[in-house]
Amino acid sequence: MSSPPTAVNRQTFDQVMVPNYAPNQIVPVRGQGARLWDQDGREYLDFACGIAVTGLGHCHPQLVAALTEQAGRLWHVSNVMTNEPALRLARRLTELSFATRVFFANSGSEANEAAFKLARKHAALHFPADKREIIAFDNAFHGRTLFAVTVGGQPKYTEGFEPLPGGITHLPYNDLEALERAISDRTCAVVMEPVQGEGGVTPATVEFAQGVRKLCSAHHALLIYDEVQTGNGRSGTFFAHEQYGLVPDVLTTAKGLGGGFPVAAMLTTDALAASLGFGTHGSTYGGNPLATAVALAAVDLIAHPETLANVQARGRQLREGLLEIGQRHGIFEGVRGMGLLLGAPMSAAWKGRARDVVTVALRHGVWTLVAGPDVLRLAPSLLITNDEIDEGLRKLDAACAELVAAG
Ligand SMILES: *Cc1c(COP(=O)(O)O)cnc(C)c1O
Repeated sequence: MSSPPTAVNRQTFDQVMVPNYAPNQIVPVRGQGARLWDQDGREYLDFACGIAVTGLGHCHPQLVAALTEQAGRLWHVSNVMTNEPALRLARRLTELSFATRVFFANSGSEANEAAFKLARKHAALHFPADKREIIAFDNAFHGRTLFAVTVGGQPKYTEGFEPLPGGITHLPYNDLEALERAISDRTCAVVMEPVQGEGGVTPATVEFAQGVRKLCSAHHALLIYDEVQTGNGRSGTFFAHEQYGLVPDVLTTAKGLGGGFPVAAMLTTDALAASLGFGTHGSTYGGNPLATAVALAAVDLIAHPETLANVQARGRQLREGLLEIGQRHGIFEGVRGMGLLLGAPMSAAWKGRARDVVTVALRHGVWTLVAGPDVLRLAPSLLITNDEIDEGLRKLDAACAELVAAG
C-alpha cells in the first residue's frame, strides 16, 4: 500500500534542496537511447549523458536486464562477504587493462581517494619518511572530497574549506619542464587526467604524457591516471592512456563504468596493491552486487569492437560538424578532445558565454554541457547513430544562429 506520489517540480528544488547546485529549469522524467523527455513531455537529444556517465544511452535493455535480474537475487552483503558480480567485474577489468588488482568504490572522488592513499601508504612502507608529495596540475578536477578537491587544481573549489590536506603541489599542465624542475625523490605520486575534462576538455600532448611517465619512473613516483571521465570507451579506446602508448601505475575510473549506476574502480598492479593490506582502507558499498552486475553488462557492451569503432567514427563526424558551425557563426573556434569527449573553445568575441549556448541549444532540443565558462563540451552516447549526430548538429546550428542574431 503506497500513497500517491507528491507533486514536485523545479520550484520544489529551491524549497527542499541544499543550494549547492543550480539545475536547469526542465526536469527530465524518462530516457530512452539518446533521448530524454521532461515533465511537460518535451523531447531532447542528449549530447551530455549526465556528464559523460550514461555512455550506452538511457535504459539500454541489457543494462535494465542486468539490474532487474540482480535486483531479484541479491542487493548487498558489505565487504565482510565477497560477491559474484564484483568478482566477475574485477576479472573482466583486469582482462581489459594493464591491471591485475581492483578496488571498488562508489564515485570518482572515492576512487581517487583510494589512489592517493595507496600512493602515500606505498611510500611509507618502502621509502624514506619524506616521500609524501603528490604532484597534480592546474585546472585538474579529481572530485569533491577534501583530499580529492585539494589535489584538484581549481582553488575556487577549496576556498573556505581550510585547513586543507598538505603535501600537494600544482604545476602547469602540458609543461614538461615545470615537472622536470619540481619532481624529486620526495614525490610519491603524479596524478593527471589524459584529457582534462572539467578543466576545459584539454588533452595531454603525447610528449608531455610520455615525459611524465619517464620522470615518474626515474623518481619512483607512482603515475596515477584519473580516467574517471575519459575511461570506459569515451575516448575511442577502452581507456584513453592506450592512445598515448604508456601504462600508468594506478588508474581510477567511474562515470561511464556503470552506465548511470553509481560505481567506481581503482586499478593497479599486484606489487602496489600489496601496500593496501587488510584493514588499511574500505567502503561499505564498494563492489555492491547491484552496481557491479550493471557495470559488468556495461563493460561488455563498451568493450565490443563495434562500440569503440562507433565512438571513433561518430567522434570524427561530430568534430567536423562542430568546426563547420564554429566557422559559420564565429561563436567558437577549433575543436579538441578525444573520441566522443569534445570541447569547442569560445571565440574571443564570445568569451565567457559557453553557458548561453547550452541554454539556447536546450530550447532547440539538444542537451549539451560546458567545461568552464569558455568551452562548450559534448559527450553523447557511445552508441549514438550517424542520423542522431546530424540532428544534434542541426539543432546546435539553429541555436548558434539565434544567438548571433540576438547579438
Ligand atoms: C567527475 C570526475 C571526478 C569526480 O567524480 P565523482 O563521481 O563526482 O566523485 C573525478 N575526476 C574526474 C576526471 C572527473 O571527471
